[in-house]
Amino acid sequence: MMVDEGKVYRAHILAVPYPSQGHVNPMLQFCKRLVFKGAKATIAITHFISNTISPKSDNVAIDTISDGCDDGGFMQAENVADYLTRMEIAGSRTLEQLIQKYQECNNPFDCIVYDAFLPWVLDVAQKYDIKGAAFFTQACAVNYVYYYAHHGLLKLPVSTPLPVELPGLPPLDLPDMPSFMYVHGSYPAYFQMVLSQFSNVDKADFVLVNTFYKLEEKVIDSMTKVCPLLTIGPTLPSLYLDNRVENDHNYDINLFQSDSQSTIINWLNTKPPASIVYIAFGSMDNLPKTQMEEIAWGLKNTNFDFLWTVRDSDKENKIPKDFVQASCDKGLFVHWSPQLEVLSNKAVGCFFSHGGWNSTTEALSLGVPMVVMPQWTDQTMDAKLVQDVWGLGVRVRARADVADGIVRREEIEGCIREVMEGEKGKEMKRNASKWRDLAKEAVSEGGTSDINIQTFLSKLTIISATE
Ligand code: UDP
Repeated sequence: MMVDEGKVYRAHILAVPYPSQGHVNPMLQFCKRLVFKGAKATIAITHFISNTISPKSDNVAIDTISDGCDDGGFMQAENVADYLTRMEIAGSRTLEQLIQKYQECNNPFDCIVYDAFLPWVLDVAQKYDIKGAAFFTQACAVNYVYYYAHHGLLKLPVSTPLPVELPGLPPLDLPDMPSFMYVHGSYPAYFQMVLSQFSNVDKADFVLVNTFYKLEEKVIDSMTKVCPLLTIGPTLPSLYLDNRVENDHNYDINLFQSDSQSTIINWLNTKPPASIVYIAFGSMDNLPKTQMEEIAWGLKNTNFDFLWTVRDSDKENKIPKDFVQASCDKGLFVHWSPQLEVLSNKAVGCFFSHGGWNSTTEALSLGVPMVVMPQWTDQTMDAKLVQDVWGLGVRVRARADVADGIVRREEIEGCIREVMEGEKGKEMKRNASKWRDLAKEAVSEGGTSDINIQTFLSKLTIISATE
């Protein structure tokens, strides 16, 4: 039994996220739920993130390890492969030091929850006889496709016969699969990383997936047969779902500084319900100039008001000046938004997104229909699920007769109109509301994710407080 300042904890868990926005925050939210259920949790962020944003927390302790790029993070590395190698070398060494530090002060870790992108963490945990839980940050459907590819059950490059049929998934044409498979040979280091999630997962004590049962029921059942897993999502702050976790909104780890929250929300509050298009393409957004121009003119042609998250340099260099000037009283440009606050505002009628897994789960948990313009990685498959499985939105398509991959303004205008004012849009809104209710149910007391988190903790409990 661990006693710390008079409190009795069931277990001490260390969370080790991959150091990017879409990975750190879900892990932090998960930690808050563990603490809510009586565990002690510490999250290990990189020195670079810690120095850049100095995060503070009330109930989840924050400590640091190195990714081998302490001064500049990912940008300090030569390329992806170099970054991943540096992180494994420096990360293993400094994680060992962290484990030893906590052992020496009588506060050892009972389990390390590690991002499945970092399978080497499991080796370190096992060296110290600490339990390991792989935390998958993407949709179960995506993980299952990677499982097939990793085990050679799906031959690469994917060729005929198409569509690909996997148990629990809809038939998949090439553009419905993760981009690393759809465009064979693209981003080899990242592709290797997502496949290596399965390199040692059979040795992990737990497999946790950031999704919820009713959202992906069939594929979860299929994957559980080959890789037993616990669904624990969605990992939005409790404030937006079941509102049970205390001090939930006190802190989040945001790697980007938001524009003034009150300016954005006050602006939204002046707008009629469901009248705004919210546009944001995640934390790694790097669209070509021609694509940004098409988005701008497509948006202009809809005549809807909009809130657009776009880096200052992209606004300056990639969005037509005429459009920016003409949008003075129609649109608000921000370089980073409080996305959950925005999506939960009644003025937002549609989320024009890249379909990152966090953005997708945030939209469906807050009942906002989507227009999805996927760029790479899991986003292509998320877009397929959003449109054809969950009926939550529509995916824009590049013109088939031009090979540049650019989605034209007419297509963008048409898809935004379909969601904002078409009959299909009403259906998408109804579906979005259904998923919102089911997401809440999953994390509320007795819901599937709530029970799974409890199961995870019960299995970790060393000595119950009453013994
Ligand atoms: N986000 C935000 N403000 C913005 C844009 C994005 O807070 O203006 C957050 C968003 O809520 C989500 C994360 O950044 O939690 C993006 O994660 P996602 O998986 O959607 O995309 P990625 O950044 O990994 O491509």
